[in-house]
Amino acid sequence: MAAHLIPYEPVIGLEVHIQLLTGSKFFSTEGFAFAAPPNHFVSPVTMAHPGALPSVNAECISHALTIGLATHCHIQRSCFFDRKNYFYPDLPKGYQLTQDRKPLCLDGYLEVPMPDGSLQRIRIQRIHMEEDAGKLLHDQEDKRSYVDLNRAGVGLVELVTYPDIRSAEEAGAMLAEIRRLVRYLGICDGNMEEGSLRCDANVSVRPAGEEKLGTRTEIKNLNSISFLVKAIQYETARQIREIGEGNQIRQETRTWDAARQITLPMREKESADDYRYFPEPDLQPLLIPQETLDQIRKTLPTLPAERFSDYHHRLKLSYNEALTLADQRSFSDYFETLRTLCSDEKSAANWMLGPVRTWLNEAGADIEAFPVPAAHFAAMLQMVSDGGISLHIAREQLFPAMLESPATPPAELAAKLGLLGSNGGDQLKEVIMSVMAEHPEEVARFRGGKKALMGFFVGQVMRKAQGKADPQQVNQWVADALSQP
Ligand code: ADP
Ligand code: MG
Repeated sequence: MAAHLIPYEPVIGLEVHIQLLTGSKFFSTEGFAFAAPPNHFVSPVTMAHPGALPSVNAECISHALTIGLATHCHIQRSCFFDRKNYFYPDLPKGYQLTQDRKPLCLDGYLEVPMPDGSLQRIRIQRIHMEEDAGKLLHDQEDKRSYVDLNRAGVGLVELVTYPDIRSAEEAGAMLAEIRRLVRYLGICDGNMEEGSLRCDANVSVRPAGEEKLGTRTEIKNLNSISFLVKAIQYETARQIREIGEGNQIRQETRTWDAARQITLPMREKESADDYRYFPEPDLQPLLIPQETLDQIRKTLPTLPAERFSDYHHRLKLSYNEALTLADQRSFSDYFETLRTLCSDEKSAANWMLGPVRTWLNEAGADIEAFPVPAAHFAAMLQMVSDGGISLHIAREQLFPAMLESPATPPAELAAKLGLLGSNGGDQLKEVIMSVMAEHPEEVARFRGGKKALMGFFVGQVMRKAQGKADPQQVNQWVADALSQP
């Protein structure tokens, strides 16, 4: 068989940089804000002035522990920082503080919702802490480059997966799950377009069924999920083509050219030894008390993947619905409160995904701005499931009224607006009977086969009910009434 006819599979591992949401940098006290004026957030430590010494920001450590525990990692309670030496103007010290030999977190995993509804377990090799570097600006002037050190020293964790990922789509789902997770945990804002979350993808291919890994390339700095997916698709096809043509894959660093939709070589992979890692002598080793871990573990929320699974498998929502409901923690938290207060969880979910989300989209707001207290929302849902009010009236009239007067209990609002009994079995039946009594000829013609008169009867009933009836129910009941002589 020709080489290019052997089915090849991609093998992918991700390295994700997660910028920690804290008031100050990792080893110095100045703050940081995206898009601030250049070199606004600098201090003697960041500038590496002689005699300036680092000190550890405890919030960075606790954020790193939070994601480590949430991803089921083993926490190395005794660890230290290393210097990664390199000469480049984006870090005045000449080295980056990172963790090489003894990272804080080892061997965890994340459960990732896949489009077929399953949870796929992607293993995590390590999560280590490090500081970010500044940015070089090459596009300001023709023959000169500038440096902006605002980002230098900002706290990061780097999460490294095992090469467990088998398709570009799986990689996209993994990165989306990481973004959901860090937002749930409140340790990172997850804004990829601002660089708060950055991803490198390691890609190799091998004949399907083969154990041994192929030579990988590393695609750097993918700053959106769709770029990640497209870059891996491109790179997989490129490697298979190269092998098909009898060429070797070179281990190299590549970059994604978004304009041309291709990956391009950047540099040959540097060997790790070049960095001359050694333990940072200006900082004490870290010793993390067991109580700290216990405390953080207590604060962990139910994770997004668990919520997804519950919504998809127990509430029988579709993959997209379940993922949407679980996506944002505050939105999902509101639903979690709501479901404990009402008897029909599935319909509560449908309300969240329908009218509530529509309202939020139109208002351009988050659930925090949604005015209706969960208790009132639940009371309204209960009125619908008890048959006190039709679903149609609840959606069209009571819900908008509740948004206007969120402090008023829905039963009171419904009474005031004359909506009670609108479902109203008896009332609606009476209306139908009276319409039939007023139009004996049409009834006879309908029963004689002129089925097109259905619309006439429904129209008459709707008019008499003054729009308060549920059209679907009217249809059903009118059909029933007309078919019984
Ligand atoms: P480095 O630190 O030099 O980038 P690592 O061995 O730590 O190298 O691996 C970095 C990432 O590359 C990890 O996510 C790992 O899963 C992935 N990886 C390693 N080997 C391969 C391979 N042959 N194909 C695809 N991914 C790989
Ligand atoms: Mg790497």
